Amino acid sequence: MDSPADSLIEAPAVATRRAKVVVLAPMETALDYLVPNDLDLSAGDHVWVPLGHAKVRGLVVELYDSAETVKLKPVAARIDDPRVPEASLRFWLWAAGWTLTAPGTFLKGCLQALKTPRAQARHGYVRHEVEALKPTAKQARVLELAVLPLTAAELAQAAGVTPGVVQTLEKKGWLEKVELSREGFAAPDPDFKMPSLNGDQAAADQLLRNEWARQGFAPVLLDGVTGSGKTEVYLETVARALRDDPTAQVLVLLPEIALTTAVMGRLQSRFGVPPVQWHSAVSASQRRRIWDGVATGEARLIVGARSALFLPYTNLKLIVIDEEHDGSYKQEEGVRYQARDLAVMRAHRDGFMVVLASATPSLETLTNAQKGRYQWVRLENRHGTAQLPDIALIDMKAHPPEKGFWLSDPLVGEILATLQRREQVLLFLNRRGYAPLVLCRACGERMTSPKTDSWLVEHRATGRLVCHLTGFSMKKPDRCPHCGALDGLTSIGPGVERILEEVQERFPQARAEIFSSDTTPDADSSAALIRRVENHEIDILIATQAAAKGHNFLNLTLVGIVDADLGLKGGDLRAAERTFQLLAQATGRAGRATKPGRALLQTYTPEHPVMQALQAQDREAFYAYEQMSRDIAQFPPFGRLGAVILSAKDNGLLNRYVRELALAIPNTEGIDVYGPADAPLSLVRGMWRKRFLVRADRNRDLQGFMSAWLKSLKAPNAVRVVTDIEPYSF
Ligand code: ADP
Repeated sequence: MDSPADSLIEAPAVATRRAKVVVLAPMETALDYLVPNDLDLSAGDHVWVPLGHAKVRGLVVELYDSAETVKLKPVAARIDDPRVPEASLRFWLWAAGWTLTAPGTFLKGCLQALKTPRAQARHGYVRHEVEALKPTAKQARVLELAVLPLTAAELAQAAGVTPGVVQTLEKKGWLEKVELSREGFAAPDPDFKMPSLNGDQAAADQLLRNEWARQGFAPVLLDGVTGSGKTEVYLETVARALRDDPTAQVLVLLPEIALTTAVMGRLQSRFGVPPVQWHSAVSASQRRRIWDGVATGEARLIVGARSALFLPYTNLKLIVIDEEHDGSYKQEEGVRYQARDLAVMRAHRDGFMVVLASATPSLETLTNAQKGRYQWVRLENRHGTAQLPDIALIDMKAHPPEKGFWLSDPLVGEILATLQRREQVLLFLNRRGYAPLVLCRACGERMTSPKTDSWLVEHRATGRLVCHLTGFSMKKPDRCPHCGALDGLTSIGPGVERILEEVQERFPQARAEIFSSDTTPDADSSAALIRRVENHEIDILIATQAAAKGHNFLNLTLVGIVDADLGLKGGDLRAAERTFQLLAQATGRAGRATKPGRALLQTYTPEHPVMQALQAQDREAFYAYEQMSRDIAQFPPFGRLGAVILSAKDNGLLNRYVRELALAIPNTEGIDVYGPADAPLSLVRGMWRKRFLVRADRNRDLQGFMSAWLKSLKAPNAVRVVTDIEPYSF
């Protein structure tokens, strides 16, 4: 019998070219397409492919030949965007698996910049020598100016005519259209301005040079007190990478924009050109230009926030992660990832150096250094004559502030003495606005955000109550919306605005200002404020964490921590670590130059290990304590963690699914699942949230376990499932 299968075996099979394409949609697998003969494709190419009745965008991840007869549709067309370099493509696909994200969803994020069309090449006009010209007066003015190429708009404006005049001249052939050059990327010069490292720094640089010489994966913890010159030292490693290979690319990751301005200036003076910046304030058209420039290898020195890790590098040879302990390396929305960890993996996969710099390393990184997994390079002293500040605790139980005030007598006295010496003060309180809570004295009603259960923060500067989570805001009402009591609403607790009020009352002569994301919403305004502090136009700076790090204020000799206990509340895994790091950074702002500095911490728990370690400036004591408590629970870095966050509008539906999921937990040695519990914010944007926490021994396949478990019980469409590998806080 002639079956179709028989005839297929007899016919000489002709292999055809095929492509595996990841379409930019939440799909688990790549799709196969035929590659038409006249289409020359490579992995990393962008293509249009048919899917159902639509044409969708995708990325070619693999090409192969096959004679297998399956019905495949052909690739429709190649898109003329820069090819994604092999190493970057492999890294993205790996990172998708690591974060338990569908490849299409992950790649879509990496390719976001391409949604903005490439800027058109700009055209300019120059005048043509044409005989027998009889221009009008307006035309003559334009022709006179068109000696150097100018754009139509520029020409028209300079000549004081409408753009139509320029067009007419072009049509007549009196003006010639020329292409203006595209804005390129200036090459950094590794030897532009050589530093003079001090003895300690030179020794640290020598260690880094030795590591560099081994040419391969080399994770290094650059561990040094604030002001010791870590930046100075890592810039030499950057120079080495740029010098050794004329096509090498270097990525310097920074935690946030406020820091970018300070470090940018130093990079520019060291390498002679401004580095390429990549962060949330960069415009879409700049992003597009940078994406292209990184993919073609033209952009060589990139300074950016966490997402810069997913640019399409052609030849990445070094990553520096400054302030590696910083929480902003953890992406908490959309695809959740820890950029610091993934940066180390990137260096590992492609065999290059990664430098993690910090004065207060994360427990993960410090433990890796202690165990010899990372090279540990230390800088023990501040550069020059700058000394570490003297740190003292103020026991608030012994020195309660007057009613309605927040600063204790010892702190007030010290502020006064500092002002009298004509030196500057930083008061640190990590709370925006006037008061974190408004409640009604008459009925006890708390003002909360309508779609979440979180408190509304009072902002007096704007007269509004704001939800810091969703951005919801409302005018502060005159009467309680619940019981209607007039003047019942009371502000509870301090934010920076309230501290400013107290400072103005206590020190009316002093010039005081707030440094928070509300007063300095962008890089320009924060740079302007920093300049005014440097010029001593401000005596007392009241700051949230926006000012805790990165800046060197030479005349600033007193740091007062208004509420040192603030971050310890809440029972979060990293609460103690984060509080220690933040306060160590904040107190480190004092005494950055020749004048001695002092830091005073107001606390109700002076006996807490965090306060004790800060006062004694005994970092190791804190880390040892913290390592012990994590070790007991086998939490990171001694175990691994993952979270599953489930949310839905319908609480009943959510609870039903969560219960079933709890019953479906596979029994696996070395892996424990905790929960379900209410997620830290159990109601966000009208969605109810539940959370499971998965703890695994270090040698277990956490991701494999989580994905098998979640796939075993498909979630209803109305339930959103988010996975978080190494959640930062919970
Ligand atoms: P860190 O990154 O460890 O906080 P920095 O590299 O920012 O330290 O150095 C602190 C300050 O000291 C900066 O203002 C820096 O310019 C200065 N500094 C550090 N090392 C040197 C050096 N070798 N020569 C001149 N200035 C230096």
